[in-house]
Amino acid sequence: MMFETLKKAPADKIFALVAEFKADDRADKVDLGIGVYKDPHGSTPIMSAVKKAEHSVIGAAATKTYVGVTGNRGFCDAVSDLVFADSVPSDRIAAVQAPGGTGSLWVLFQLLKRAKPNATIYLSDPTWPNHKPMCEAVGLKVETYPYFDAETGTVKFDEMLACLDGLGPDDAVLLHGCCHNPTGANLTPEQWDKVAASLKKTGAFAIVDLAYLGFGDGITEDAYGARKLASEVPELMLAFSASKNFGLYRERAGAAIAIGKDADATAIALSNMGNIVRTSYSQPPDHGAEIVRLILTEPTLRAEWETELKEMRERMARLRQKLADAIRERSNASDFDFVAEHRGMFSLLGLTPEQVDHLKVKNALYMIGDSRINIAGIPEDRVGELADAILSAVR
Ligand code: PMP
Repeated sequence: MMFETLKKAPADKIFALVAEFKADDRADKVDLGIGVYKDPHGSTPIMSAVKKAEHSVIGAAATKTYVGVTGNRGFCDAVSDLVFADSVPSDRIAAVQAPGGTGSLWVLFQLLKRAKPNATIYLSDPTWPNHKPMCEAVGLKVETYPYFDAETGTVKFDEMLACLDGLGPDDAVLLHGCCHNPTGANLTPEQWDKVAASLKKTGAFAIVDLAYLGFGDGITEDAYGARKLASEVPELMLAFSASKNFGLYRERAGAAIAIGKDADATAIALSNMGNIVRTSYSQPPDHGAEIVRLILTEPTLRAEWETELKEMRERMARLRQKLADAIRERSNASDFDFVAEHRGMFSLLGLTPEQVDHLKVKNALYMIGDSRINIAGIPEDRVGELADAILSAVR
């Protein structure tokens, strides 16, 4: 007998909250929990460009044979181009298509462990809750770098940079490319320039997690950090997710990208990524990746996708501004102005676990235990009510 020798694995807090929300029968309940984009009706529909591309993909498909260990090559090229544009020569880019951003991170963490078995990886404090257990599962040592000041809702950049400046070539740093999860606080272009200069100086290795490209200020603006690093440092890795910006969550479309110092080193990285994939899940699923490839390479679909993405981004920015304004009007204080400055789908409000619980019990307002809210979940016609609830919890 063996299973009883194991302990139960820790339950995922986000999925537990989803179940709790579902079971709540209060009609006015509000879900600001799980990180899924929602439209003004509170649903997550398939994007119109995706729907059209999907029809074409199904119509054109002639086979379901394996796509190959490194996945859909057209997808890999199109995503590499979308993310890096001309910031780095294409013969220094090795990309494999992987199951979502998580699958991509999994491949990259293993590649890091292979290349630098003694590496310590530094994660932002706080970060996406899956980063640490994934790094540990691969056998990497994990530390954190200072990132978020919950008092002001801003990045503690001086402390972050001082930490990065103290790293060395056996250290790796995981950076959120844009739209930081869970805080919503992001680096400015000038701060990215300083991070790039620090990495160049210390030889520490960077991995960029890019799960929200286009959700912040625009595709080019959101890619600034990734492009800056790619043009400055000799080696880099990046995990791309198409889950949010293409709304393809369940299709598991993502790319693990390694940039090598030259074409030979890049070829070695690609062969190792292929080997990691082969021994993990052999080959990725194709459907979502083929949809993304078609959208990115067919001009009409691409324009439609970019327009839809812009609408989503602008809706989130508008909701941010409305919530910040409503809280300011009611409290006559600027304590939550940072919500409007943040970018992407999340803001960390800086509430205590008791305050978060109070909002759930008293107001049927659900957010993650660390006080992360999903901006896209805010009902636009009830912003005032949310502002009242948040203020009553903090008073
Ligand atoms: N990184 C971050 C920071 C994320 O927020 C997410 C999604 N929640 C991922 C990676 C993984 O995304 P995917 O669903 O594509 O695996």
